[in-house]
Order: sequence, then C-alpha cells, then structure tokens
Amino acid sequence: MPESDCLFCKIIAGEIPSTTVLETDTAYAFRDINPQASVHVLVVPRTHHEDAEELAKAPQELADVIAAGVAVARQEGIDQTGFRLVFNTGEHARRTVFHAHLHVLGGEQLGLFGRPGH
Ligand code: AMP
Ligand code: ZN
Repeated sequence: MPESDCLFCKIIAGEIPSTTVLETDTAYAFRDINPQASVHVLVVPRTHHEDAEELAKAPQELADVIAAGVAVARQEGIDQTGFRLVFNTGEHARRTVFHAHLHVLGGEQLGLFGRPGH
C-alpha cells in the first residue's frame, strides 16, 4: 500500500482527526476509535513501517515507540495498576491497519490472551 493511502500516515499528518495523547520527535500517540479497555491508546512511529518486523529493522524507532507506550501508561495513571503493550500481526491476530502500531491497554482488569471469550 502506498504511504499516501495509509490511514495512520494521514492521522500523523493531521489530515484525519485524532485525539492526541502524547507526541515525541519520532512517535505519535492517540486514542483508539474503538476502545477495548478504559484506556486504549495507539502509539505509531512517525515514519511509515508496515509492521513490527519492518519497525524492528529501525531499532531506535522501535525503542522510541515502546518508550512512548510506557510514557502514555504513566501519563494515563495506569503504570502502577498495570498495562498491556501489543503489536498485532496478520489475520489470526485480527490486524487491520498496515502501519506498525503499539496498542496500550489498561485502566481495568484485562482478559486473558488468546481465544475469543478467554
Ligand atoms: P489492529 O487491529 O492491530 O490493526 O489495530 C488497528 C486499530 O486502529 C483498531 O483498534 C481500530 O479501532 C483503530 N482505528 C482504526 N481507525 C482509527 C482511527 N481513525 N482513529 C483511531 N483509531 C483507529
Ligand atoms: Zn503509514
């Protein structure tokens, strides 16, 4: 997919509105439009990387995204109660947007990983 067609590139560019949570030089954090927990924030690298594997080829950017995810948890006040950082990859993980993104989930007791309903 060309970057010009990428939803999250458009969000980073401000062409599509989002609710900003945190900004750094290399990462942008915004609220998920369909939250799966009382805190559900997405952290994206400002440059387009298709998925976690591609992002891992730019280790500093990957580290920045993870550090931003932890900073989001602290800012949202869920760092003491606990939070989950997730990269979904591929169909079985229900991945839908092809710009690498880290989910930050918390603010309440989360379900277990894995099968639906678990
Ligand atoms: P994934 O399934 O891991 O690809 O996650 C994509 C996430 O992006 C989902 O949790 C969606 O709810 C979220 N999402 C899709 N469109 C938007 C949008 N315009 N603003 C904020 N979050 C979005
Ligand atoms: Zn993109």
